[in-house]
Amino acid sequence: MEQMSYASTNRQAPEVTLAEALLRGQAPDRGLYLPVGIPRFAPGELASLSDKPYPEVAAAVLGKFTAGTFAPDELDAMCRSAYDYEVPLERVDDRRHVMRLDRGPTASFKDFAGRMMGRMFGALRRNAAGRLVILTATSGDTGSAVAHAFYRIPNVEVMVLFPPAEVSARQRKQMTTLGGNITAVGVDGKFDDCQALVKQAFADESLRGVELTSANSINIGRLLPQIVYYVYAAVRLGGGVAPVVFSVPSGNFGDMMGALLASRMGLPVERIVVATNANDEVPRFLQTGEYHKIVPSKSCLSNAMNVGHPSNFARVIALFGGWLDEAGTLRQAPDMGRLRQEIWATSAGDEETRATIQRAWREHKLLLEPHGAVGWLGLERYLREHPTVAVAVSVETAHPAKFPEEVERLLGFAPEVPESLAAVEAKPEECLRLPADYDEFRKLLLDKYS
Ligand SMILES: *Cc1c(COP(=O)(O)O)cnc(C)c1O
Repeated sequence: MEQMSYASTNRQAPEVTLAEALLRGQAPDRGLYLPVGIPRFAPGELASLSDKPYPEVAAAVLGKFTAGTFAPDELDAMCRSAYDYEVPLERVDDRRHVMRLDRGPTASFKDFAGRMMGRMFGALRRNAAGRLVILTATSGDTGSAVAHAFYRIPNVEVMVLFPPAEVSARQRKQMTTLGGNITAVGVDGKFDDCQALVKQAFADESLRGVELTSANSINIGRLLPQIVYYVYAAVRLGGGVAPVVFSVPSGNFGDMMGALLASRMGLPVERIVVATNANDEVPRFLQTGEYHKIVPSKSCLSNAMNVGHPSNFARVIALFGGWLDEAGTLRQAPDMGRLRQEIWATSAGDEETRATIQRAWREHKLLLEPHGAVGWLGLERYLREHPTVAVAVSVETAHPAKFPEEVERLLGFAPEVPESLAAVEAKPEECLRLPADYDEFRKLLLDKYS
C-alpha cells in the first residue's frame, strides 16, 4: 500500500512520512503535521466493525495511516497490547451515553494515545544508536500518561515539566514515582510557562547535540489513536449508520480533533460539541469569528483543560481551509459556515461544573469528575437547542477517583479508587524543581542528556 504523507499547518515545511512526523513532533516551520488526503472507510467497513473488540477497531482505523511504516501484524500486536483494558459505554437514557476513557494505567483518556505512541516509538527506535529525549509539558494528565507510555522503552528518555500548584497529588505521583528513564520536573509557574520552556528548547540551535522530540498533543502520534474511540462508539451505538453527536471536554483540542478526523474519514458524526472551562477562546471564536488567545490561561477545576491558546486549534482551522499560526494569529480565515455546522462550542464556569456533578448524580446516578462534567453540561445545552438528536455520547476523560476531595465534597462519598491509582500511593517520589527560567532549563537538559 502507498505510504501517506504528512504536511505542516504552516505550509512552509516539506511533506514527511509518518515515521518522520512521529519522531519530529513539531514541523520545522513550527506548524503541526496533518495527513495529506484523509483516508476514507470503505463501503460496509463501519458496519463490519460494529461487533469487533476495541483492539481490532483500532488496527482497522490506524492501519489506514500507518501502512508502509508498520506491518499489519506488528500493528495488530501493538493494538492488542496497548488496549488491554475496558472501554465502557454507559447508557444514561434512551439516547444519551457516557463513554468512559478512564480505565488505562493513569486513568485518563491520554492513555489511549500515549500507549500507542510509546509502542510506535519503540518500534521505530528499536535499532537506533543514541537516545531520543521526549520533552513534554503537562497541566495534569499528559505527563503521567506519557511517562507511563514510555517507561522502560529502550533508547528513549522522558522529561516531564509540570506546574506543581496546578496538579493534584495523584496526578503528581503518577509522574514522580516511576524513576528509570522518566524525569519529573516541577516548574515554579503555570502550565503556559512549562509549555513555553519546552517550545524554546525545540527552537534552540545550541541544543542540537541532544535529540529532542515532543509527545504533547502537537505530535501526530497523539492524535491518530484518538480517532479510534469515536469510531468504536459510533459503530457500537449506531451500527456506523446512525449519526452521532459527540460532546468532548476540551483544553488543547487534541481529543476533539480525533472526532473531527473520524468524521472526515466518513464516520457519521452529526455534530461535535466542544465544551471548555473558563478558557473560552474557542467558543468566543465561533461566536465572533475573531480569535484571541487567553494569556495567562485561567486556573479552573478541570485543570487538564487550563489552556488559553490550544495548539491543536491550528489543525482544526487548517481542516476548514484557514491558517492559524503558532503565535495565535489568524493568517487566513477558515470557512466559518462549515465550521459552525460541524462544531458547536460552549463553556462552563467552575460553579456550573460543580452543579453538573451533583445534578448528574441526582438525576441519573451518573458519576462524573470535573472534566467529564464540563462535557456533560455541553451536551445538555446542545440537546436543549437540538431536541431531535437520536444518539449522543458524552466523553468522560478521567476517572472520578483522580479528584477525590472535590467529588466527596459535592456528593458526600469518595469514589472507589482503581487499582492503577492505588498502586502509586505508597511509592517514593522523585522530582526536580526549577524556576520558570530558560537558561536554567537549558543547563539541566545539557547536564542530563548531552
Ligand atoms: C487533557 C485532558 C482534557 C483535554 O483534552 P485536549 O485534548 O487537551 O482537549 C480533558 N480532560 C482530561 C481529564 C484531560 O486529561
